[in-house]
Amino acid sequence: MIRIMLLLSLLALYINSGAQAPVTDYAPKYAKVVNAGDMKKLVKALASRKFEGRESGTEGQQKAANYIRKFYKRNGIEPGNGDTYFQEFEVKERNGTTGGMSENVLGYIEGTDKQGEVLVISAHYDHLGKDGKDIYYGADDDASGTAAIMLIAKAFAQAAKDGYRPRRSILILNASGEEKGLLGSEYYVKNPTYPLKNTVANLNVDMIGRLDSTHAKDTNYVYLIGSDKLSYDLHFISEKSNSMHTNLNLDYTFNSDSDPNRFYYRSDHYNFAKNNIPVIFYFSGVHEDYHQPTDTYDKILYDKAAKIAQLVFYTAWNIANRDERPLLDKMIDKE
Ligand SMILES: [Zn+2]
Repeated sequence: MIRIMLLLSLLALYINSGAQAPVTDYAPKYAKVVNAGDMKKLVKALASRKFEGRESGTEGQQKAANYIRKFYKRNGIEPGNGDTYFQEFEVKERNGTTGGMSENVLGYIEGTDKQGEVLVISAHYDHLGKDGKDIYYGADDDASGTAAIMLIAKAFAQAAKDGYRPRRSILILNASGEEKGLLGSEYYVKNPTYPLKNTVANLNVDMIGRLDSTHAKDTNYVYLIGSDKLSYDLHFISEKSNSMHTNLNLDYTFNSDSDPNRFYYRSDHYNFAKNNIPVIFYFSGVHEDYHQPTDTYDKILYDKAAKIAQLVFYTAWNIANRDERPLLDKMIDKE
């Protein structure tokens, strides 16, 4: 009897210590969901002829939206707009050109004790469509980022299923209308499905599959843009996530305020930044196939893209599970 009691108490101690291990210890297990092989499958599908270059408001883009929605449903990721995955908006460009209706695709992983706070992870899935017989496949821009956030969503959903649900909630925003002027993310921040004041950060992934000319021989880099602009705290979480897990060469060239490319203003994260939500933009630069029909899936470096996607995952995991949301230490005037 005593022996059994001892065994039972040892067992209880063991279970207890397991439950008390910091949730960060489990991140590497789920980071494996974000892998090169699965990224390739997703990029190949998204950048296939079937989706005709995914121009906002076209049938090809709507097929891609359905493909993403089905992936979320199949992998246990909840809808992020009430009981639906789609958030519909009118495609209306700055110059007044209208192009029918399009939709953002929203996936959601509910948090635990801090579920009212939301981290947004985004990538745009629309691209330039086709021109006569030429299809703009947009494998790097931005099937690479889309595949990354789909797998990150899957990783969080799998962790949640195993009992390691994040403390904060996570919204996966597959934006449309980016190529026509950041329309989908603009619509989202004007019609957020979770209050912006409780939105703790935005991690945005746009073009992570190729090398640019400055890094022609370096397959282990990523440009980070924006990380320290509103919250040094966020920058610190990002740096730490990298040094602990991915060890990528973080290149801050384009983070400079005087950078003539102005990338900070050129993808969906900027709609969050201008609402004083701290952002990080993950990007590996432009190349000869940028906005050309030759941006195809066979040219993507999947090991590199998956490693960057894993950095996004680790950073997201750390933001979602820490005690405090990233502290805002700078503010920008709202337009
Ligand atoms: Zn893009």
